[in-house]
Amino acid sequence: MSRLQQTDGLTEEQTELVKLVREFVDEQIIPVATELEHRDEYPQAIVDGMKEMGIFGLMIPEEYGGLGESLLTYALCVEEIARGWMSVSGIINTHFIVAYLVLQHGTQAQKQHYLPKMATGEIRGAFSMSEPGCGSDVSAIKTKAVKGDDGDWSITGQKMWLTNGGSANLVAVLVKTDTGADSVYRNMTTFLIDKESGFGETAQGVTVPGKIDKMGYKGVDTTELIFDGHRTTDAQILGGEPGKGFYQMMDGVEVGRVNVAARGCGVARRAFELGVSYAQQRETFGKKIVDHQAVLFRLADMAVKVEAAHEMMVKAARKKDSGQRNDLEAGMAKYLASEYCSQVVEDSFRIHGGYGYSKEYEIERLYREAPMLLIGEGTADIQRMIIGRRLVEDYKLKA
Ligand SMILES: Cc1cc2nc3c(=O)[nH]c(=O)nc-3n(C[C@H](O)[C@H](O)[C@H](O)COP(=O)(O)OP(=O)(O)OC[C@H]3O[C@@H](n4cnc5c(N)ncnc54)[C@H](O)[C@@H]3O)c2cc1C
Repeated sequence: MSRLQQTDGLTEEQTELVKLVREFVDEQIIPVATELEHRDEYPQAIVDGMKEMGIFGLMIPEEYGGLGESLLTYALCVEEIARGWMSVSGIINTHFIVAYLVLQHGTQAQKQHYLPKMATGEIRGAFSMSEPGCGSDVSAIKTKAVKGDDGDWSITGQKMWLTNGGSANLVAVLVKTDTGADSVYRNMTTFLIDKESGFGETAQGVTVPGKIDKMGYKGVDTTELIFDGHRTTDAQILGGEPGKGFYQMMDGVEVGRVNVAARGCGVARRAFELGVSYAQQRETFGKKIVDHQAVLFRLADMAVKVEAAHEMMVKAARKKDSGQRNDLEAGMAKYLASEYCSQVVEDSFRIHGGYGYSKEYEIERLYREAPMLLIGEGTADIQRMIIGRRLVEDYKLKA
């Protein structure tokens, strides 16, 4: 049991669940992660194991067949999973956001239809806002849904960077719908798109061209998604009414940011573990490198960052669980955890000397994984924008 990243005030159930996931990670993920990652192989056996444990339904209420757990429990499980292999946490992250969106914003019929099958992992979700021409600037999306005289919608456009775009069979997609609102943000709608998993034309007018070849974060598929006159109905609008999509997606992103922060914490802890272990084995100038003060101090700095990021992530999750808005805390947690993760991974890499550059050492994989956290769910600059603006609102000078 690690001294780092302990969480006070957990219930017995939370403690047990996190322990179960940690054991699963130690036994089923860590021993195979690097090999599968190098082969860019989808971790089917791991996914099957997670299905059995109920991970896909962690936050889905019991009435829909899930475990009904809090965001905090979810985030602590993600932290453990990412410690084993970040790609596996990517497999559940978009699924979790889509389940959250259906639960918070879906119609009763959408909840009844999707949530029980999402809880078992039979339906798996992907989440799609980004396009080839925009990611940070969501208002610039071009994919459009137009309502025909028959009352059906037709969607056309190109989406980019869908994590689980191939393996998912449900995509929550944000599109423009010109419903005449005066704000660009109220002219956006989230549609729930049913499709087959796999590549090629996976539903009428919906094509997944293939996997994007990435520098890291392998194993999990990341894809484009092309809509060419995909026909759908009002029943597939999240919540049933057009014009609410932007706000729904931003709510999803808020919980997604806690999730990315949790991933950063997990990857950073693993990097620390690898560094502290290597430092006690490698000798230079007649002593273990951990006995050189520069290395010891580096380890101390790493541990402080691992611990601080965890505390901030837990705070952001608890705030959301208490029913309060957590955009500031989620932004801070995501920003801090992803930056610290990169720094801790780099420090561990340095401790490994030349061996850190060898594919035989796990740190090489972490070194390619950490940068994704600086970008996904909003870049560091976007987090700083959110944090800064929110604080200026709060600390506004009184006239
Ligand atoms: C592996 C991977 C998986 C992903 N998965 C998904 C997914 O499942 N679903 C999805 O919808 N998207 C996904 N994304 C997309 C991701 O959310 C975007 O890449 C991210 O939001 C940044 O958008 P962009 O790439 O268009 O960069 P841009 O928005 O073009 O930004 C480029 C640079 O400009 C900076 N910048 C932009 N605007 C400002 C500003 N106003 N002030 C200061 N700096 C600014 C950015 O910080 C960045 O440094 C994924 C991306 C990756 C790499």
